[in-house]
This record gives sequence, structure tokens and C-alpha cells, in this order.
Amino acid sequence: MTDILFITELFEKLGVTLHSLTEELQTDTPMGKFALQMLGSVAEHERRQTTQNVRLGMQRRNRLGKWNSGNQVLGYRWASHSVNRHLSHVEIIPDEARLVQYIFKWYASGLGLRAIANCLNKDGHQTKRGKMFQSVSVKGILTNVNYIGKVAYTDSTTPEHKIIVEGEHEPIISINLWKQVQQQLALRFRPPTRRIAHTFLLTGLLKCPTCGSSMVAAHVSRKRKSGARSVSHYYICGRYNSGGHSACLPHHIPADQVEDWVSKHVQRFLSQPNVAERLAIKLNHKRDKKMEPFLKQMKEVKTQIDSLQKRSLRCYELFEDGHINSQELKLKLGRIQSETALLEQQRQELEQKIVEEPEQPIPLNSIHRVLADFKPVLQNATPNQQKALFRSMLAKVILPTDGDITQMIIQGSEALLNMEIPNK
Ligand SMILES: [Zn+2]
Repeated sequence: MTDILFITELFEKLGVTLHSLTEELQTDTPMGKFALQMLGSVAEHERRQTTQNVRLGMQRRNRLGKWNSGNQVLGYRWASHSVNRHLSHVEIIPDEARLVQYIFKWYASGLGLRAIANCLNKDGHQTKRGKMFQSVSVKGILTNVNYIGKVAYTDSTTPEHKIIVEGEHEPIISINLWKQVQQQLALRFRPPTRRIAHTFLLTGLLKCPTCGSSMVAAHVSRKRKSGARSVSHYYICGRYNSGGHSACLPHHIPADQVEDWVSKHVQRFLSQPNVAERLAIKLNHKRDKKMEPFLKQMKEVKTQIDSLQKRSLRCYELFEDGHINSQELKLKLGRIQSETALLEQQRQELEQKIVEEPEQPIPLNSIHRVLADFKPVLQNATPNQQKALFRSMLAKVILPTDGDITQMIIQGSEALLNMEIPNK
């Protein structure tokens, strides 16, 4: 409705009359305008009705327990019938169904989510989307009511939102096994008792030496002989963390050590005088490259002006030596003058362009100043600010395969012109 009104108004402003092709309406008459508005509201009403019908249809399907998961559920295949959709149905894929049964049995027998993902990946199994299994995908299977022949759907009109009804499809998992697994899930789920008081400064920056994926935070909590608990913080490979040993190696490294090491090297690097110079050269080189064509043109114009000046001097010599008369001299000088005037104009235009260029050369001492500020800023920053600073300065930190942090490669970000920060 609003669209159609907006369009007619716009057309009116532009002095165009809209002829509705189907209804042959003259929108410039009051009657035509009214009719068009009516059409607009009818169209709007129809559109609203259709979406409402689709939603009602889906809800009806849901209430009847019709399959609503497409081809996303391991163990089932949605066989859609292109001509008669009433003939579409869901069927069990025996191999996949057996796998699902194993997953439930493994969990019920005490295996963890990651261990199950690991087993599945090791045997070359993949999720329905062709990905490696992860803890979350295993958990998704263990909590999917489709496996006990039910269908879940969301209904925003009810307080619970999620509604589970009896489905039309065959179950894969027995109610007994399902109940065991749900109990275990509830028992084994430990809500994080307290927040880990460590900010992992290098999350997202530190890369696994084997697979290149980002390393993630992990911690190990130990009970000392004295009874006190001690928590150690580590980074481990993100792929290993979710996919287990068959996905990658853990590559544990102590968080404090690696963070101190990177922080120390970044600070040292920034305080080196030649770093500011390198930054200045690189930054200004970038600008110069952009200005290069203008500067080149400028040089050419100047040479031309110089040569014109030389020519006018020669003309005087010719006149003094009696080779040309005063009339010829005047003519030649006149030509030289008008050529020079043109070139002078060009020179002024180029000068203007160079002066007006927003990227002016950056003075070395201001780069020095910025870098000198970095060390105190980094040292006084809160852990979260430090993390943000690292993220702005570093592109990535690559751990060597032997885990020797002194051999890590620290790659500066674009802000540091991708310079590598030496690890010595
Ligand atoms: Zn890895």
C-alpha cells in the first residue's frame, strides 16, 4: 500500500501519469487515484493473507506431526515427491541410523561428547552437511526428538515456544535409551562455577602449527596436596578442542608464557628507533607512489619552461648578431610567451593538486611519538584493552610444531604494514 502510494506520488511530482496496465486507470483523475489506492490495499491484503495461510499451513502440518526437518537429520532421508506432495515422505537410512544408535549407546556408556566426535571422525564419518563432527553436533544428535519418532516446532503464541508432538515417522532410538541419555546429559552438564579470571590476549591471533586454525582458551584445574585448587591456563588447537585427536593435535601451550613473550617482543619492537623509520619510509612510499604521476608531469612542465627561456635568450642573441630584425624578434618572443603562459598554468594546476592531496607526508618524529606512547599505553591498559591493542597491531602469531614459543612468528597487522616482528 505504502509502496504504491509512494510511487504514484513520485510520478505525480515528476509530471508522469501512471497507467495501470491491467486496469487501465487514469491516475490523474480523482477516481483513478482512489481506484489505485484500493488496488494497493487489495494487493497488500492478499499478500498478508498468503503469508498468514503459509504460517497456518505450517502450524497445521506441525500439529499433525509432519516431518519438518528436511534432509538435515542423520539417519533420515526426506523423499519429496515432485508431482504429488502428499506422496512425499521420510524414510530411514539404515547405515546412518546404526551410527545414530552407536552415538546414543556410547554416550550412555560414559563416553564424552568430544570423545564421540573423535571416534566418528576417525572412522571417516561426516555430518549431514559433510562436515567433521564436533561436540556440538554430537550434542545436537543426542537431543533431537526426531529419533524417538517425535517432531518439535516453535510456536511463538504459546509460553513454552517449543512444542513437541508425536510424529508420523519411525523412531531410531528406544525410549529407554533416550531417557538414559537425557539423564546423563543433565548429570554431566556442569554449569561454569566461576568465571575464569584470565583474559586470553591472543585468542584469534595464535595459530595452530599443524592445521593453521585459531587456538582457543583452555584451563586445567588441579587439586594440590594442601587441598587448594590451582588453575592453569592454556591455548589449545581449536580443531582439536571440538573434534578430538582425529581432527588435530592439542599443542597445549601455557597462556601466561606465550602472552608475556609476545607482549615483550611487541613492546621491544615498537621502541626500536629504526622501526619508526621503516614505518615512515613505507607509509610515505605509499603516498609517493600515488603522487608519482603528478610529480613526473610537474618535472616535464618545468623542463619545458626552462627550454623556452633558453630559446628566448637565443632569439635575443640572433637579433643582436643581426640575423633577425626587430619584427621577427617580436614575433618569436610573442610565440614563446604564449607557450610559457600555457605551461605556467599547467604548473600551477599541478602544484595545487599536490598541495591539496589529503595524504601529506608523515613526519618521522610524529611516528616516533606514537610508537613511544605505545609501551606505557600497553602497560597501563586493562586486559581487555590490551587484547584490543594486540588485535589492532598483530595479524597472527604462528606457533612452531615443536611448541617452542621462542621460535614463534609474530606477524604485524596492516597497521604495522604487515612487518614481521623479530623473535630474537
Ligand atoms: Zn590444529
